[in-house]
Amino acid sequence: MNKMTSSSEPKNVLIVGVGGQGVILVSKILATLCQQQGFQVKQSEVHGMAKRGGGVFSHVRFGESVWSPTIPKGGADILVALEWAEALRWVNFLKPNDGTFISDTQHIVPPFACLSRKRSAEVGYSRETPDEILAHINDGYAMDATGIARELGNDRAANTVLLGVLSTALEFQADDWRNVISSFVPPKTIDINMKAFDQGRDWALKVKDSPDDAARHLRSEHAVPTVPTKAPYDAHDFVHLDINPAWCKSCDICVKMCPERCLQLDENLKAILSAPDRCTGCRICEWLCPDLAITVYRTPEAAAACA
Ligand code: SF4
Ligand code: SF4
Repeated sequence: MNKMTSSSEPKNVLIVGVGGQGVILVSKILATLCQQQGFQVKQSEVHGMAKRGGGVFSHVRFGESVWSPTIPKGGADILVALEWAEALRWVNFLKPNDGTFISDTQHIVPPFACLSRKRSAEVGYSRETPDEILAHINDGYAMDATGIARELGNDRAANTVLLGVLSTALEFQADDWRNVISSFVPPKTIDINMKAFDQGRDWALKVKDSPDDAARHLRSEHAVPTVPTKAPYDAHDFVHLDINPAWCKSCDICVKMCPERCLQLDENLKAILSAPDRCTGCRICEWLCPDLAITVYRTPEAAAACA
């Protein structure tokens, strides 16, 4: 992997994802770290699109001297994608021969990809697999960062898993990364975020010199969460929906797009599973929720059948 801070040329890091994933947080952590290391930093971003299913991106450029805040197409030294389709959308911004590609493989399906509301309708989503994309990239890393973070106990630490991978592409010390991350995340999540950072970093260090391309795609057993064995659940005997009311912003997307019409907003305008018997566990609501408020759990047998 190329180390990115030695030359006098500005380094360009493009961070992309969808609303609610923490693109701006990743960008701020990187920009702060670069500033602390004495670099001039320029940052530009587009955000606020979460409720429209839109993408969020941030350009971070740093070096001894940086003039423009934006990265031209084909000019990114590193692409960090928090969502798979966004990775594909922006991959042409990567330097063609020596850019570093880092992406979560999780899918967040935009509403316009679910235009058919028939039962079991297909969701229109990019079909390119991580292995197909990595085969065309000199220095690529694709991992189920969300599944890894879920295993640690907090899906939202997925972006810190990616920061751990990113840390191996830059010359900053791991402890400097840890200090900046700790200063940005909520205090009660610092432990999980440190573990997430270390998992991403350790994995990337392990595979970066591997001649085996397959090693650069890290899967997780937790990509499809299984029903917690001790949790009480009230849906089908093979599926359980966890809807976090604190994160639900009442956008109504899940209600409108559930193919089985089993969700509704309650009197507080929070999404609830109103018809659990009809829920098939298709996960469309989970993929669509811009605020990551829904997690669909399946029994291990059902998860295996749907994998
Ligand atoms: S749970 Fe449903 S209503 Fe609430 S934010 Fe997510 S998609 Fe919108
Ligand atoms: S998993 Fe979500 S979208 Fe799918 S049927 Fe159940 S409530 Fe509806």
